[in-house]
Amino acid sequence: MARQEKEIERLQAIRQHTLEEIERLKQELQAEVEPTSATDDDSAAEAAADIYERGKIVSLIQSLEAKVHSLERAIELAEQGKYGICEKCGSVIPKERLEIMPETTLCVRCASELEQGIRRHQLRVDTTE
Ligand SMILES: [Zn+2]
Repeated sequence: MARQEKEIERLQAIRQHTLEEIERLKQELQAEVEPTSATDDDSAAEAAADIYERGKIVSLIQSLEAKVHSLERAIELAEQGKYGICEKCGSVIPKERLEIMPETTLCVRCASELEQGIRRHQLRVDTTE
């Protein structure tokens, strides 16, 4: 199958944008690491708020990194002319879904099956602990 040039271009642009966003968030994280010299209660509360903020940024970075990973997979598929086709069942992924989630390589059904599988797995891990 032919390379899907238009899709590759679009995916690479999104990937670039996502990488820039990760870079920006990492810099933000760096900035918040700056130690404060004050030791009163106010700054303790502030520090707690900082930790909370940092946690949010860290999880945002992680989800963006996962997105980059998916985008790279999608680009690979586009190079083989297989972008927009579910990797698992081979059915065509609706255009609307690709508009909302350009990094997806699975149709809705397979993606939700996969997600449920992960959730079941997590549940098992939780109960055995
Ligand atoms: Zn599928």
